[in-house]
Amino acid sequence: MTGITYYRDKCIGCRACVEHAGERWRMSQKDGKAVLIGGKLKNKIFFCLVREDEYDANRKAAQNCPVNSIILNKAK
Ligand code: SF4
Repeated sequence: MTGITYYRDKCIGCRACVEHAGERWRMSQKDGKAVLIGGKLKNKIFFCLVREDEYDANRKAAQNCPVNSIILNKAK
């Protein structure tokens, strides 16, 4: 499993995460920021665990996020 941590406050709405990992990310029509699908909110930070087969797409999303608001961690 892979853990995705998302600092939504930092998002500038560029859509790069949606383009690279559209199964896990979508844009909010409310505030124009990205939404981590399945993410749980705690202390203003979203987190979710995803399967290995989502790792590559989300790694690209994280690498292409211009404000580094997406962090990936291998989880046990
Ligand atoms: S790539 Fe980063 S800044 Fe761009 S929409 Fe996604 S989370 Fe927001």
